[in-house]
Amino acid sequence: MNWKRYTVTAALPYANGPKHIGHLAGAYLPADIYARYLRLNKRDVIFVCGSDEHGTAIPIQARKENTTPRAIIDHYHNLLKDNFSKLGISFDVYHRTSEPIHHETAQEFFKVMYDKGLFTEEISEQYYDNEAKAFLADRYIVGTCPNCGNENAYGDQCERCGKTLSPKELINPHSTLSGTQPVLKETKHWYMPLQNYEPWLKEWLLQGHKDDWKSNAYGQCKSWIDAGLQPRAMTRDLDWGIKVPLKDAEGKVLYVWFDAPIGYISATKQLFKEIEEGKQEFSYSQAHEAYKGAKADDWKLYWQNEETKLVHFIGKDNIVFHCIIFPAMLHAHGEFILPDNVPANEFVNLEGDKMSTSRRWSVEMYEYLEEFPGKPDELRYVLASILPETKDSEFTWKDYQTRINSELVGILGNFVNRVVVLTDKYFEGKVPPSKPSEELQAYITEQRDKIGTSIENYRLREALTELMNIARYGNKLLTEKEPWKTFKHSPEQTGVVLYDCLQIIANLAILCEPFLPFTSSKLFAMLNLNAANLLWGNAGRQNLLETGHKLGAAELLYQKIEDDVIQKQIDKLKNTLPVNNTPPTQNTKPVQPTEVSAPKAEITYDDFSKLDLRVGTILTAEKVEKADKLLKLSVDLGFETRTIVSGIAAFFKPEEIIGLQVSVVTNLAPKKIRGIESKGMILLAEDEIGSLVFISPKKGMKNGSIIR
Ligand SMILES: [Zn+2]
Repeated sequence: MNWKRYTVTAALPYANGPKHIGHLAGAYLPADIYARYLRLNKRDVIFVCGSDEHGTAIPIQARKENTTPRAIIDHYHNLLKDNFSKLGISFDVYHRTSEPIHHETAQEFFKVMYDKGLFTEEISEQYYDNEAKAFLADRYIVGTCPNCGNENAYGDQCERCGKTLSPKELINPHSTLSGTQPVLKETKHWYMPLQNYEPWLKEWLLQGHKDDWKSNAYGQCKSWIDAGLQPRAMTRDLDWGIKVPLKDAEGKVLYVWFDAPIGYISATKQLFKEIEEGKQEFSYSQAHEAYKGAKADDWKLYWQNEETKLVHFIGKDNIVFHCIIFPAMLHAHGEFILPDNVPANEFVNLEGDKMSTSRRWSVEMYEYLEEFPGKPDELRYVLASILPETKDSEFTWKDYQTRINSELVGILGNFVNRVVVLTDKYFEGKVPPSKPSEELQAYITEQRDKIGTSIENYRLREALTELMNIARYGNKLLTEKEPWKTFKHSPEQTGVVLYDCLQIIANLAILCEPFLPFTSSKLFAMLNLNAANLLWGNAGRQNLLETGHKLGAAELLYQKIEDDVIQKQIDKLKNTLPVNNTPPTQNTKPVQPTEVSAPKAEITYDDFSKLDLRVGTILTAEKVEKADKLLKLSVDLGFETRTIVSGIAAFFKPEEIIGLQVSVVTNLAPKKIRGIESKGMILLAEDEIGSLVFISPKKGMKNGSIIR
C-alpha cells in the first residue's frame, strides 16, 4: 500500500517518576529512528507523544511525597519532556493528558460510544473506606497474598510472587488511606463488553496481521483472544482523572487505559491547533512542509483517513492495551483508522537483573544526561545496537564502553578523523580533484536501500549494522590504498582516494541521522555541507561534495570512555542495592554474585568487640499502629526482657515469629520509634528477592548466650 501520511506514536510515559534507559529503548528511540527516517524521505509524518497524568498511582505518589497530584505531574512532565529533547527524541508535539483539550476529546469519545449503546452498566460491590469516605482503587488496598503470604500485596497484584489479584482475594485487606478495614459497598460502572469484539478481532488482527506483526504482539493477542475476552470496566471511583460525562456518574472518572491512548489523538489536535495559530515551532522543517497553511481540523487526516498509516511503538507490557482494547475502542467509535502495526519491544535488563526505578536498579534518563553530558548519541548508539526487538536484551556498562570505544570511536570516529586530517594536510582542507566513482555510488545506494528496508520493517538493529558497514568500507579503502604513502610519487592518486572517502562521510552524514542526529549535524558542519542535502534520496545519487569545496572546522566526534568512568557507574549501582522491601517479581533472575553490595571499610578488632551480641527469644510481637512496616517485639535476653521495634512487618506475621530465637545487638543506644522506646536491634539478612530472614541459631540455645 502506498501510504499518503504517517501517524507515529510512542507510549505515553506515566508522569509519576523518572523514566529509565530501558523505556527509551522500548518505545522512544525506535519510534524516533522510524520518524526521522520517514522525514528524510519527505513523507508526511507526525510523531506524537505526551505524559500520561491520570490513574491511581499519581495521587498515591503525591501522598508519599506529601504534595499534590498537580505538583507531581508538573514536575515529572517537565523532567520527561526535557530528557527526551536532550536525547534527540524528535516529537512534533509532547502533550499532556491533563490538558483541557484532552479531557474534552476523551469525554467526547466516551459519549459517542455511550450514545451508540456500546457500554453495559453493572452494579458491583467494591471496597469502600468509611473513614476516608472513598471507594478504594485496587492499589489503595493492601493485604495478604493468598498465593505466597506476602502481607503487603496490592489489590491488583502481589509484587513478591507476581500473581495478578483482585482486591477480594486479599486476606485481611486494609485501606492505605486510613489503615482501616474497608467494607464492601455497591457502585455502578460502565463496561466495554470486549467479548462482543472477538469475531472482529479474529478477522482484523489474527487473520489480517498474522504475517506483518511481530510475534510477541501477535502471540500475546492470540492467547488473550483464544482464552475468551471479558467485559472491562471503563470507569473508576476516583477523584483524579477525567470526569465521566454522564449525569449519574458523580465521583467517577474514566479508566486510565480508556483515556491514555486517546491522548495520541488529543496530542494531534493540539499540534494542529498550534500550527493554525502559528505557535508551533518547526524544528523538523522538511517534514513540516506538508503542514504549511494547515488548519486545526487537519488532525482528522492523521486519524480518520484510510490512506494514513498508524504505528504505535510500545514496550511489551502495553501490548494488550494497544493491540486489543484501543483498536476495539477505535473500531467501536467508528470514525477512526486502526493501527497498521504495533512494533512492541521486549525489555532491556541491566547488569543481569530486571531494570526497576523503585528498586533503584536502573539508569534513569536524567541521570545519564547529568553524568554523560554531551553524549546523547553515544547512548542512542549503544541502545540501538541492543534494542530488544525479539527478546530481552542486556545493558552493561562494560558493553557500553566497548561499543563506544571500538565501534563509535574505533570505526566511525577514526575514519572521519583520518580523512579530514589527511585532506587538511595534503589539500588545504579542500575536496581534491577527482570524479564520482560509479562503484562507490552503487555500493552506497545498495546500503541506503538495505538500511531503509530494515527500518521500514522495524528491524533497526540490522539497519544500524548496515550503516556501520559503510564506515568499515571506508576504513578498508584507506588501509588498502594508503593515500599517505602515495602522495610523494602520485598526489593525484591520493586525491582520488580522499575524494571518495569524503563522499562516504557525506553519505554517512545523511544516513546516520535517524540513529545519531547529533553526529549528523556535526558532520554537516565539518564538511561545510549544505543542510538542504539532508534527504535520504541524496545518499549515493550524486557527488555531494564538489572538487575544490572547502571543508568546515574539524572536531572530534567521540571520545574514548575510560575504565574509571565505567567503574564509577558499576559501583554506584551496587551500592544502591538492596534498598527497599518491594521484592522483584518472579521472572527476575536471582541476583548474580557480582551484584552483592560492595564491602564496607575495614574496622579494628576493638571496634567489633564493643558490640554486645546475644541470642534472644521473641516472646510477643504486635503491629505498631499506623506504621505498615513496624512490629513491636518483646525479646527475652536471659538477663532481661527488652522491647525492640523492628521494620519487618512486611515479611513476617506477628504470630509466626513468637518463640523464635534470633540474634540481637543489645548495647545500641535506645531510640524512640513511633513513641515506643526501642532498646536493641534484631539481625537480619536480605535474600535474593529482597525478603528479610532472621539470623537464628540452628539449635535451641540459652537466652543471653554471647555471639562472637
Ligand atoms: Zn504473592
